[in-house]
Amino acid sequence: MDIRLKLTGARRGAKVPESKITAGSPIEPLPLPEKVIIPMQQHIGAENAPLASRGTEVLTGQKIGESEKFISAPVHATLSGEISGGSVVINPPTGELTKTLAITSDGADKWVELTIAKDPKSLSVKKIIEMVKEAGIVGMGGAAFPTHVKLQPPKDKKIDSVILNGCECEPFVTADHRIMLEYGEQVLSGLNIIRKALAPQNVYIGIEDNKEDAIEHLEELISKSDFARDFKIVPLKSQYPTGAEKTLIEVILGREVPIGGLPMDVGVVVQNVGTAKAIHDTIFEGKPLVERVVTVTGAVKQPKNLLVRIGTPLRNLIEYCGGMEEGANEIILGGPMMGIAHFDLDFPVTKGTSCVLVRESAPVKEQECISCGRCLGVCPMRLMPTLLTKYAKTGRYDAAEEAYVNNCVECGSCAYACPARIPIVQYIKVAKKELVKRKANK
Ligand code: SF4
Ligand code: SF4
Repeated sequence: MDIRLKLTGARRGAKVPESKITAGSPIEPLPLPEKVIIPMQQHIGAENAPLASRGTEVLTGQKIGESEKFISAPVHATLSGEISGGSVVINPPTGELTKTLAITSDGADKWVELTIAKDPKSLSVKKIIEMVKEAGIVGMGGAAFPTHVKLQPPKDKKIDSVILNGCECEPFVTADHRIMLEYGEQVLSGLNIIRKALAPQNVYIGIEDNKEDAIEHLEELISKSDFARDFKIVPLKSQYPTGAEKTLIEVILGREVPIGGLPMDVGVVVQNVGTAKAIHDTIFEGKPLVERVVTVTGAVKQPKNLLVRIGTPLRNLIEYCGGMEEGANEIILGGPMMGIAHFDLDFPVTKGTSCVLVRESAPVKEQECISCGRCLGVCPMRLMPTLLTKYAKTGRYDAAEEAYVNNCVECGSCAYACPARIPIVQYIKVAKKELVKRKANK
């Protein structure tokens, strides 16, 4: 049976320059920093309560924040040393403030004793979910949704398909590409654990065709594996935003996720390749999520892919990459389409930081809409971005809801295509937030 299915692709989306300048750069471990800053909330869901305070000695991998809420993920010390303070930062996936704990390193990187299951392959589903939760694993493609929640869908949601997302359609970002090339065995092993937890009939691996080397590598590993033979690789035409969950499901399975719904509503769970590797590391090595691969790119002197301890200040990554080019004045966490701008070099890498993009940005002046319709043509969700912007600007949030604003995946294709430089996604985010507030106040 063929491992590789035929090439397919999204019908809509934006043609954006790929700029994957670090695709050929092997992952390098970043030297351990002297200090890390650990936000208590790095995911979508409840904030953790700190389990340590100033002066507490901690070991690498020790849990230092947890919550009793179901949608949450604990956080761990990513260095050994002493808790030396705390502050408040923005949690990128939610845009809300969260408390932090700072750890000053003792230089020894002493780890907690890692618990490794005697026979990881025969773990029960309950135990797998428990271990994934304890390890603090979240979606590492940027969404940062707690993984243990995705592994235990409600009983009425029958999951028939799992899709491993190796698309990485955002320009510049190459972390997942390198993970597939350098940790392919661990990625497939993690996917096998996901399969065990969800028992789907079909397991797909979606990879854009600009990563032919990763497709070939995984194809070879699958052909040699005794557990992965029925995994199917789906090559996808590289087009933004094929890797957005809802687009990916539509392209691979032809299913449309309902408005306000989740992939599990159409029988699907999507996991990122970095998440699959983190699951392997937890089940087979006992490791909690304390590090991740980050692409540092754009206007830095030596763009690289780095293996970074979570909580490391952005400054350390940029300095290791030779510093910023002259004129660079903006840092984006994530890619240029969906990433979030930051201006503070002391901001820490979090579990969802796939990329640190440095660039030179000039002030942009928003113009009036010229009704050119370009935004409509590129929207993968078939929305009317121009109308949504109008409703958000005039506070007509109910009308925005009726025009399906909640179906927007915030991919940024519309804003990219807009000749009037209208920050459409920002307006849409405002409308969505207002609608959430209104519901909460009802
Ligand atoms: S309206 Fe939303 S989904 Fe459509 S192109 Fe714009 S950001 Fe993407
Ligand atoms: S692309 Fe910009 S200018 Fe053109 S219709 Fe959409 S919002 Fe208006």
